[in-house]
Amino acid sequence: MISVDEALARILNSVNVLEAETKPITQCLGQVLAEDIYSPFDIPPLDSAAMDGYAVQFSSIGGATPKQPKVLKVIGELAAGYIQDREVEPGTAIRIMTGAPIPKGADVVIRFEDSDEAERKTIMPGSRLTEIGICQEVPKGSNIRRAGEDIKKGALIMSKEMVLRPAGIGVLASLGKATVSVYRRPVVAILATGNELVDIDQPLPLGKIYNSNSYSLMAQVIHYGGIPKMIGIAPDDFDFLRKSLRQAFDSDLVITSGGVSRGDYDMVKDVLVSEGKITFWTVRMKPGKPLAFGFFEDESGRRIPHLGLPGYPVSVMVTFEIFARPVILKMMGKKNLAKPTIKAVIEDTVKNSDGRRIFARVVVTKRDGQYFASLTSPQGSGILTSMALANGLAIIPEDVEAIKPGDVVDVMMLDWGDFPV
Ligand code: AMP
Ligand code: MG
Repeated sequence: MISVDEALARILNSVNVLEAETKPITQCLGQVLAEDIYSPFDIPPLDSAAMDGYAVQFSSIGGATPKQPKVLKVIGELAAGYIQDREVEPGTAIRIMTGAPIPKGADVVIRFEDSDEAERKTIMPGSRLTEIGICQEVPKGSNIRRAGEDIKKGALIMSKEMVLRPAGIGVLASLGKATVSVYRRPVVAILATGNELVDIDQPLPLGKIYNSNSYSLMAQVIHYGGIPKMIGIAPDDFDFLRKSLRQAFDSDLVITSGGVSRGDYDMVKDVLVSEGKITFWTVRMKPGKPLAFGFFEDESGRRIPHLGLPGYPVSVMVTFEIFARPVILKMMGKKNLAKPTIKAVIEDTVKNSDGRRIFARVVVTKRDGQYFASLTSPQGSGILTSMALANGLAIIPEDVEAIKPGDVVDVMMLDWGDFPV
């Protein structure tokens, strides 16, 4: 039986980042750039007004004060999105709105507040001003955003390997890039095994249970950026299993649940041994000990990794977090494969009798600047609600026999930022 760390290292060493593909930016959230992004132009593209006001020549406003305003002729108006043919000359001004390009000849923008516009408008409400008094001298260049101030033409904006978050998608749009090259999302085939399973759109005969694993796995695959391919349910029958698994051969990763223990009907690992190549079986962890990993090969010789997860619903989800999630992220070109981990004071007792690494389902809360973790009891591997209520997995190391209330433990956060603090 190998350790969690060794199992993860072996799994990760045997999978690679997938090919790049070019696709619309609307579909790329969370994906990794496979190209460097350079700006094809300056942003902003032209000098533009940073405030609503009057575009004037600095030389026209020397010595202006509220008592002795410099009166200029208003020769036009300019809103954002338009350009002005008229040139600002000495003694003239163009009324300008934030974002509008600075007209030729102007070298400063005077804010409305620094003019007598409000006064003139109360005297002549509704009429267009033909003259404006500037009441304040400001330094040359004031209230002008310079072309290229945000981004210079030709500059490297985002490097290959960067994860596209919402702001990154926005930056691509600001450069007019409708499509971008990113590493492909893996297609993850999901197959549930077990004679006892019934799919959720069927009536439930006595003695059977609904297949929940395929659905929690599907949600986890989507959550971490993969594309689920639902293969359905295979009974515990060697030939049926073999045929079902063949349907998964066009995927990038095959995940099965169940059939990897020592029981008479646990045939998933037998199929893996006879049809593919098994790399290891059983990991020193709880839940999730009976975990198999190996490869199938399609007709062309392409190797498809297979994670044979245990059957119990909690074991499935925990082993997915620990092993399948990093595989998906690596395939997508991500470098940071670890979940955020915090230190928390545990509020319950957890015993560790046989030297495995325990992942206990906990609710983490923050009180007085300190994290606390309490078990979402009870902890059986079949109790899926214990997982549904948890926002973290407390990690009890292999060599610790028991943790008691007040001990500090590492907690791998499942929903970082979303849990109540
Ligand atoms: P196994 O490892 O195949 O013996 O599965 C262990 C137990 O997990 C089974 O007895 C079921 O109670 C449960 N189980 C297996 N597969 C599923 C599934 N797809 N959905 C819900 N529970 C399952
Ligand atoms: Mg089974």
